[in-house]
Amino acid sequence: MNIILLGPPGAGKGTQARMLVEDRGMIQLSTGDMLRDAKASGTEMGKRVADVMARGELVTDEIVIGLIEERLEAEANRGFIFDGFPRTLAQADALDALLAKHGKSLNAVIEMRVDDEALVARITARSTCGNCGEVYNDQSKPWPEDGKCAVCGSTDQTRRADDNEDALRTRLMAYYKQTSPLIGYYYAKGKLRPVDGMGTPDAVRHELDIQLG
Ligand code: AMP
Repeated sequence: MNIILLGPPGAGKGTQARMLVEDRGMIQLSTGDMLRDAKASGTEMGKRVADVMARGELVTDEIVIGLIEERLEAEANRGFIFDGFPRTLAQADALDALLAKHGKSLNAVIEMRVDDEALVARITARSTCGNCGEVYNDQSKPWPEDGKCAVCGSTDQTRRADDNEDALRTRLMAYYKQTSPLIGYYYAKGKLRPVDGMGTPDAVRHELDIQLG
């Protein structure tokens, strides 16, 4: 099964992708994670995208399509969760072509629906484990008091540089201008499955299970 998690920043795409990996053994392909890795390891491409990401703008289609292409080739016989990709119509077209090239197709596009006010609150409260990627929230799921990640025991609590109000405003604008047209695009293709993203992570997981069967 190959699915897209579509929704604005803070909708819970990463959290649900991790759960799907656990529940169904699928592979999470997060272009945001790949770009942050490239930046952290100081590659040429990582250096080129750093400023764009810090501002909250989209990096070029060419770069993210290239990243996805590499991963599809490396793990061609697995089911994929596309998390944060595609974000433009050009990326959506490229994904169709790449999947077709590997004899695959999209099963569903999960539209994660959330209130805009909730996004700002979620994102400014968000932290992740720098080692295993577990996602925390200062209110609903605080980083453990002993200072160690509940999943892997690492003490590396990190906050994303672009999880601040200025960058978030740009990210939301990029979502509405460039990414939200994909909702209509996938609806017309008969692939869109809306999910209420306002519930607890487990409630959303349950809804997703029903949608995916
Ligand atoms: P994310 O972790 O998905 O919120 O992505 C973080 C940042 O990486 C975004 O604000 C963009 O700058 C960049 N990015 C991630 N995925 C894409 C994509 N599919 N297209 C363009 N830029 C992306």
